[in-house]
Amino acid sequence: MESKFDVCDPATGQVIEQVVDGTIESAVRAVDAAAAAFPAWAATPARKRAEILRRCHELMLRDADTLTKLIATENGKSAADARAEVEYAAEFYRWFSEEAVRGEGSYNDAPAGGSKTIVTYVPVGVAALITPWNFPAAMAARKVAPALAAGCTVVLKPAEETPLTALALARIMHEAGVPPGVVNVVPTTRAPEVVAAWLGDDRVRKVSFTGSTLVGRALLRQAADRVVNASMELGGNAPFVITADADVDAAVAGAMLAKFRGGGQACTAANRFYVHANVFEQFLEKFGKSVMALRVGPSSDADNQIGPVISHKAHARISRLVDAAVANGARIAFQGKIPNSGLFYPPTLLVDVPFGAPILSEEIFGPVAPIVMWNDEVAMLASANSTEFGLAAYVYAGRLQDALRIGEQIDVGMVGINRGAISDPSVPFGGVKQSGIGREGAHEGIREYQETRVYSVGWQ
Ligand code: NAD
Repeated sequence: MESKFDVCDPATGQVIEQVVDGTIESAVRAVDAAAAAFPAWAATPARKRAEILRRCHELMLRDADTLTKLIATENGKSAADARAEVEYAAEFYRWFSEEAVRGEGSYNDAPAGGSKTIVTYVPVGVAALITPWNFPAAMAARKVAPALAAGCTVVLKPAEETPLTALALARIMHEAGVPPGVVNVVPTTRAPEVVAAWLGDDRVRKVSFTGSTLVGRALLRQAADRVVNASMELGGNAPFVITADADVDAAVAGAMLAKFRGGGQACTAANRFYVHANVFEQFLEKFGKSVMALRVGPSSDADNQIGPVISHKAHARISRLVDAAVANGARIAFQGKIPNSGLFYPPTLLVDVPFGAPILSEEIFGPVAPIVMWNDEVAMLASANSTEFGLAAYVYAGRLQDALRIGEQIDVGMVGINRGAISDPSVPFGGVKQSGIGREGAHEGIREYQETRVYSVGWQ
């Protein structure tokens, strides 16, 4: 008999809904459906696929209020953040509806003559997509839309904490005209077994994962057994650098966004602030004032700006990092207020953080900002780069040349210059080092779901 698992509101702990708990058998059935649907979907004219994707965009916006509420309830983020996520996620359907028809290839003479080379791009096949809880709509849309645009069919495992948004997107895609079997969502509490069944299945030719570096490494090992094409969007540890001549008010606005969007639970969240000594006091005072004005509480009150963290485990991890930093000499300069009960962590600014404190090297994934003063650019850059991660960085500087010079020396995939947000569908999103392999969004995003196919034609 099929069992179900509870999906809970992290703000209250109350059960929102029960969802059928996927098993290895349901994982295999999902691949059966995706493999059966693949030939017809791959052969569907690109314009038709594009129109269906465009319709998904429209339906997401039509249902924006319901989706906003669903995301806010199962993830806990504020209503404003959830609404922004719906719009951001819907944009991936629009963007890839436009990319779907921009097929490209080439036709060339071989250098030595005697043959011609035709290069085309074909869908890779059935793709297994695994997504995290922190952006339940956007992380799914950023994978499903390019996969469908390329002509792939998919099996999708959403995070156990937030399966309802993925199921709602599946209903929207069905209404938009995505044929049965093209998108198959398998919520489960048995992530390792379900994903291993997919990676061990000869019919699955692609894995695209967003989540922690720890799990990404494990999936890459499994993918190696069958040489499965893998894209990985993993953890981050973004430095946020402010130079001596930066516009401090703009830097504070950017810092609020880069640090506190989604309560700091974003892979691109600013994890460490490097503030030049000349503007340190001014920045700290203004940043502190903004932090103290933040409203923390459940998303049911639309005025709240920060919700709970996702789980007890996450709360304990953030507390441990802050306590260790304070025990080593860091000082809490500002700390906001939280409701009396629930999984809330107060927005916190830490100063005097000792070099080498775990809070500077681990992903905080919560509303805590360690702030370090710098004078020497070389030492600051060495510290910014002393991490296994390389996803994003932010630089605020008065002169673009300085921002670019600093940005060029930070080993990351993406640099926000004088802005606290980076991603939109036109950005090839992704990291270097242990932050991942491959890119999502932009033109590169569709390439992750295509193979290069060559015809070498004798020409005598
Ligand atoms: P997680 O790695 O614990 O889980 C991510 C997904 O993997 C979930 O669906 C989970 O059920 C599944 N999973 C967990 N263990 C598994 C296993 N052994 N085998 C197969 N699947 C498994 O990560 P999380 O806590 O849900 O998300 C937070 C992490 O995601 C952070 O590190 C964050 O930086 C990262 N993230 C990265 C990006 C990016 O684009 N680079 C975007 C969002 C989040």
